[in-house]
Amino acid sequence: MTVSSPTTTSLDPEAIRNSFEGRVIGPNDDDYDTARQVTAGHIDRHPAVIVRVANDNDVRKVIELAQETGLELAIRSGGHSAKGDSTTEGGIVLDLTDMAAVDIDEKAKTAWVQAGASALAVTQAAAEKGLAIGFGDTGSVGVGGITTGGGVGYLVRKHGLTIDNLLAADVVTADGELLRADQDTNPDLFWAIRGGGGNFGVVTRFQYRLHDLAGIVGGMLFLPATAEIVERYMSLACSAPDELSSIANVMPCPPMPFVDEKWHGKLVVFGLLCWAGETEAGQRVLQPYRDLAKLGGLDAPIADMLRPMSYAGMYPPEDPGYRPTAVALNMFIDKVDHKMAETIMDRLEKVETPMRAVQLRVLGGASARVPDDATAYAHRDSEIMVNIAAFYDGSEADRQRKLEWATELMHAMHQTDDGVYVNFLADEGEARIRAAYPAGTYERLAQIKRRYDPDNLFRLNQNIPPA
Ligand SMILES: Cc1cc2nc3c(=O)[nH]c(=O)nc-3n(C[C@H](O)[C@H](O)[C@H](O)COP(=O)(O)OP(=O)(O)OC[C@H]3O[C@@H](n4cnc5c(N)ncnc54)[C@H](O)[C@@H]3O)c2cc1C
Repeated sequence: MTVSSPTTTSLDPEAIRNSFEGRVIGPNDDDYDTARQVTAGHIDRHPAVIVRVANDNDVRKVIELAQETGLELAIRSGGHSAKGDSTTEGGIVLDLTDMAAVDIDEKAKTAWVQAGASALAVTQAAAEKGLAIGFGDTGSVGVGGITTGGGVGYLVRKHGLTIDNLLAADVVTADGELLRADQDTNPDLFWAIRGGGGNFGVVTRFQYRLHDLAGIVGGMLFLPATAEIVERYMSLACSAPDELSSIANVMPCPPMPFVDEKWHGKLVVFGLLCWAGETEAGQRVLQPYRDLAKLGGLDAPIADMLRPMSYAGMYPPEDPGYRPTAVALNMFIDKVDHKMAETIMDRLEKVETPMRAVQLRVLGGASARVPDDATAYAHRDSEIMVNIAAFYDGSEADRQRKLEWATELMHAMHQTDDGVYVNFLADEGEARIRAAYPAGTYERLAQIKRRYDPDNLFRLNQNIPPA
């Protein structure tokens, strides 16, 4: 493995190695190139040092180090930031991946989870006790990033966002203080970390409420993609009982072994459905989705993997080396009528790239019953979340082409909702960060930022500068 050099070397990893209980990784360490990698394939930064913190005290000391040296500080839990915020060129990475303990209180139906744990690890540990909490659609995402931004996943309609099940958190703030944040203690901080991202400090532990969930009925369903099928799928999904949360990915069929090869690369509706309720009722609710295949001239879906299973089964195995180069734009829409479905099909058919997708996620249910001002995530009335994505070949020219395609489609799909979900933002500028927070919410966040991080130490994020 080649060892890369940072462009800035103002910090000698050797000089600080013994100051931490956790591991200090510098450019001369064999695993430096692995340790500096993040999911976003276009991000290739060389931190001066990566500190794999072992405890709250290490976290405090890394914050102190960043203050003393003036170096840029990146916070990393699962490393999935599309903007690459969990790494830095020449700065310090505070890496929480070794702080990943999951401690479940089965009787109380709560869990204390260290912020470096993955969504999959928590989901599996909870499932062993017949309990669950919703994170996102991908198991490798870190609870640190997904929780501080909101958390929209397979239980969003049944149990709300991840933050709707957050009871408390431990946060180390810019002055190195370890604070408890909950409904009664530092309630402003508790409000802000539920959607305001990593602006306010480093969360070291989250306490979540868990729900009884012995199993689900769900999984993957592949249907041919036509405007009619997209429209009908979304109409079913939007009017479904809260027990059903679902995603429709309209995209070229991935080459999965259980899908007939003749479909590979053809546009399909790749549905991800999760029924968190009684099994027979679930089968009844899911049947009309299977029947949509007939509208595409088929007797049965292209592939039907819907079945009773453990909730953790919603997270299939992932390739840890997967680092795609992709552009993605997020937005909310009110409904998918025929015109909208035609627009989606038309644009997906026109773009030249083997992998592109319009992802439609139905919101509502429990997530909509939380008042707008209860958390910093305030899109409670938004109906459907959309991600428009296209992979590019790694070159800037191709990235621009794909971004233009996605931007045009985003404008074509716009209805009345101007919001955007902060956790799906890439490097898109201040206006898009402001769109993540409705009027009033942004200003309140900026005031809280001033209180907890007046010098904007935590600025490598979707940044809200102090008021
Ligand atoms: C493949 C993929 C699928 C996704 N699916 C979903 C989904 O279904 N639903 C959804 O809601 N989101 C989803 N996301 C978005 C995801 O929630 C965000 O990218 C999130 O920030 C990733 O968290 P992380 O800890 O893995 O990332 P990191 O890159 O480690 O962190 C991202 C940022 O979060 C902040 N942060 C992280 N940890 C902490 C902490 N302990 N304390 C304070 N701040 C912290 C920091 O600002 C950091 O820069 C997905 C992203 C990807 C790449």
